Amino acid sequence: MMKNREIIVVGGGMVGALTALLLAKQGFVIHVIEKNPAKSPLIDSPFDLRVSAFSVQSKNLLEQAGVWKDIPENRLCAYQGLQTWEVGSNKLIFDSTELGMETLGYIAENRWIQAVLWQALERQDNVTLHENRELLSIEQSDNAVTVQLDNQQVIEAELLIACDGANSATRQLLDIGITAWDYRQQCMLINIKTDCAEQNITWQEFRETGPCAFLPLADNNASLVWYHSPEKIKQLQSLNNIQLKNQLLLEFPKLSFNFDVIDKGAFPLTRRHAQQYFKGRAVLLGDAAHTINPLAGQGVNLGFKDVQCLLDLLVHSSDLPMNKLLKRYEMSRKPHNLLMQSAMDIFYKSSKSKLGVVRMLRKAVLFGAEHSGQLKNKVMKYAMGL
Ligand SMILES: Cc1cc2nc3c(=O)[nH]c(=O)nc-3n(C[C@H](O)[C@H](O)[C@H](O)COP(=O)(O)OP(=O)(O)OC[C@H]3O[C@@H](n4cnc5c(N)ncnc54)[C@H](O)[C@@H]3O)c2cc1C
Repeated sequence: MMKNREIIVVGGGMVGALTALLLAKQGFVIHVIEKNPAKSPLIDSPFDLRVSAFSVQSKNLLEQAGVWKDIPENRLCAYQGLQTWEVGSNKLIFDSTELGMETLGYIAENRWIQAVLWQALERQDNVTLHENRELLSIEQSDNAVTVQLDNQQVIEAELLIACDGANSATRQLLDIGITAWDYRQQCMLINIKTDCAEQNITWQEFRETGPCAFLPLADNNASLVWYHSPEKIKQLQSLNNIQLKNQLLLEFPKLSFNFDVIDKGAFPLTRRHAQQYFKGRAVLLGDAAHTINPLAGQGVNLGFKDVQCLLDLLVHSSDLPMNKLLKRYEMSRKPHNLLMQSAMDIFYKSSKSKLGVVRMLRKAVLFGAEHSGQLKNKVMKYAMGL
């Protein structure tokens, strides 16, 4: 194992903070540079709109980092069922018991995951947190990468890991291009409080206007996800919570319980993929390298797989020159991320297609998958990262 090697991590979101913590636990000396540091949320605060479905593999990584146990029980929901269907057709049903698993995954707020990671980083002697800081410049030589921060501080390291999100300023400083397109759709997130106990099934209905999804949250909370045109989302955003509830009752798939709208917000959907994952001694991870249509909740899970891959290489292939090591990382992660992006696009486009034949094909795929036994379970295990 390499000891006392310095690494700069830019961006302390879920991906950057996990990267920094796992590397620190391997003995690396870490500098985290974060523009907007994580604030510790209050245990009884209302649920934040930004929630993610975490795969079992992602949970395992957070356990490896020692922070899974720190997520408060009342902010974490395990789900045992996942259902998806094309409007007016049969459901494709996944059940954890069929897979011999306790759960299919977990739903939690992004800010809580980030917060427990930051609390653990603060306890590490070999981590320096540079809060409210950005990079001014990056210079590279054969043996080192040197950055200047906006307080003029200069840091030299063996490796720079950029985890500064979809609009990565580091990626731009490195002059790494992206391929990108706008989905011409937005996603409305609506937090509700229901009149029934905690649910354990997440579902998604595909419609011509885009998917509608239900994500259970801890206790009697839930997140509704409504994909639609930017015009429609703008109209929905202009409604107050009572008007929005009425609109949900009219237009959203039927909910089997009473509820109140607590919070709402809209997010544009853009697909981006970096044309290269590294340059010299700087490497991209998470949303800095790729953003994906969130319809299957894979974004941060892919980012965590990037983390696992780079960590394994840095720990187990430390004899490789850095350029070869980073090439291996790119060769391992780029095709996988591209495949997942493309798979999500096929689902997204076919659900919006007005062509009967395309929608029939999608229905056939869902019907075939439901009746495919082992194959269905294999698909689910792949999505769970197992
Ligand atoms: C509507 C929606 C729903 C989603 N649902 C899911 C889901 O269910 N499951 C899932 O797996 N994924 C989901 N995703 C995707 C997931 O949210 C992202 O993949 C994930 O947040 C990316 O994490 P990250 O750490 O790479 O980037 P970010 O979360 O964007 O973090 C980047 C960090 O870098 C910091 N930063 C930014 N610029 C700079 C700078 N110049 N210098 C220093 N620091 C900087 C930021 O402050 C932030 O802390 C969803 C996304 C959307 C939009």
